[in-house]
Amino acid sequence: MPATIIMGGQWGDEGKGKLTDALAANAAMVVRANGGSNAGHTVQTRNGTFKLRLVPSGILNPHVRCVIGAGVVIELATLVEELRGLRDRGIDTSSMLISDRAHLVLPFHKRLDELEEQRREQDEIGTTLNGNGPAYADKASRHGLRVCDLQQPDILRRKLAIEVDAKNQQLVGVFGAEPIEFDELLEQLLELAEFVRPMVVPTEVVVQDAIAAGERVIVECAQGAMLDIDYGTYPYVTSSSPTAAGACQGAGVAPSQVESVIGVYKAYSTRVGGGPMPAELLDATGELIRTRGREWGVNTGRPRRTGWFDAVAGRQTSRLSGITEIALTLVDVLDVFAEIGICTGYRVGDATLRHVPALLDDLEGATPRLEFAAGWLEDTTNARQFGELPQNLLAYLNLIELHLGAPVRYVGIGPDREQLIDRQA
Ligand code: GDP
Repeated sequence: MPATIIMGGQWGDEGKGKLTDALAANAAMVVRANGGSNAGHTVQTRNGTFKLRLVPSGILNPHVRCVIGAGVVIELATLVEELRGLRDRGIDTSSMLISDRAHLVLPFHKRLDELEEQRREQDEIGTTLNGNGPAYADKASRHGLRVCDLQQPDILRRKLAIEVDAKNQQLVGVFGAEPIEFDELLEQLLELAEFVRPMVVPTEVVVQDAIAAGERVIVECAQGAMLDIDYGTYPYVTSSSPTAAGACQGAGVAPSQVESVIGVYKAYSTRVGGGPMPAELLDATGELIRTRGREWGVNTGRPRRTGWFDAVAGRQTSRLSGITEIALTLVDVLDVFAEIGICTGYRVGDATLRHVPALLDDLEGATPRLEFAAGWLEDTTNARQFGELPQNLLAYLNLIELHLGAPVRYVGIGPDREQLIDRQA
């Protein structure tokens, strides 16, 4: 039974955690493919709300083996705190596995993230200041420390000394900031390493063995494909590839082993941080979407920017990741609107762009070309079957399918586990 990818089709926070948790009920393994502790996946169950940062969203299903793949960057203190927190709430985390190839986010990465954002001033990327960007930069420039480096104290000491020395030159020399204390950091890492050691394995082997054994494997991406470092709105992007291709790479799954790619999209748009958002609503409608969708960051508390569904961006992510099924989430948020907009083009002067341009300056002054669908003005939160959904909502789903070129299979009508309709159920 080959792999399923669950990925965000927009700018993140689409509700991937909830879908992953739901589909994990019928899977053997969930592998987190990319990103770091900046990602926050929310799963709401009868036992309360779980805000997962690095741990895969399959963890609440006791039979599921959860894997942090090679493409993830790990801040150990955050991971250990998260695992302890889950254990304290009675969640069995004994099946957790961590890739020995995953890179580490270290305290100097966090500090450099903050200092670099300050230096960019009004051009700041709007990162979550968790140090993930600098950790991925070190990975690409072959300076990174990986989980495997934690396994032997003398190897860690040697490699860490080189990196702390180089980073201190940068911190003190370029930014005039305080240097990192080597001994303290080493001691801290050795202690954390002790905690995770039993979980560290070559996860690509475990994942491949599971696929070979015919087990159902779900690959879970963090963020959304519009934040992809290659095809997103660079430089306002993340440092990894939250796409189907990136999912394969980060999890250790071959493209030919993927059976389905589920693109999770909100019924409208949100984004955090800087960067263009032509469909943004800066009025009372945008505010109402924010309030109804509780659009504040899970980890940062920052208000998210809101807007109508951006079909230009959606079509791009759907096509580039070969999305086979759509999960449209937070549909209930739109229950109160008489008209619902879809952005089908970006108007720039006399031209209408139908794709996301590489040069963001080309979007200067862009306004959305909007189509409107009739709202359903009906509470959807109690629907449990596809047939119970209002006619106008079905027409809206058709429109989304038309623009994205894939069928809507799942519909989210509330944050709870049960508030997810599978059209094929
Ligand atoms: P993720 O990172 O993609 O997993 O998404 P987040 O957890 O950051 O954000 C999704 C938020 O929306 C969480 O608070 C979820 O509990 C909530 N949510 C998910 N699906 C739905 C839905 O269909 N309706 C509503 N109202 N909330 C939802």
